[in-house]
Amino acid sequence: MHLADPPIRRAIEPALSGYRIMYHRAEPNRCPGCGNSNWHIGRISAQCAFCDLSLPLAEAAAPGDLMARLGL
Ligand SMILES: [Zn+2]
Repeated sequence: MHLADPPIRRAIEPALSGYRIMYHRAEPNRCPGCGNSNWHIGRISAQCAFCDLSLPLAEAAAPGDLMARLGL
């Protein structure tokens, strides 16, 4: 009896995963879950103070872009 081939596993490719909501520090950010705009901001994500929804920081997703903004 022939066994089925194992599934092909690939790394997640952010550029191919489609539209992704992110928190942008320099812009007003409304929570997509509840509409409020109060956030607890960490190093890699921001969490809504009302409904606990978390969004990744845009700067953390593209560290090269942050370095360019800071002039480093
Ligand atoms: Zn919220």
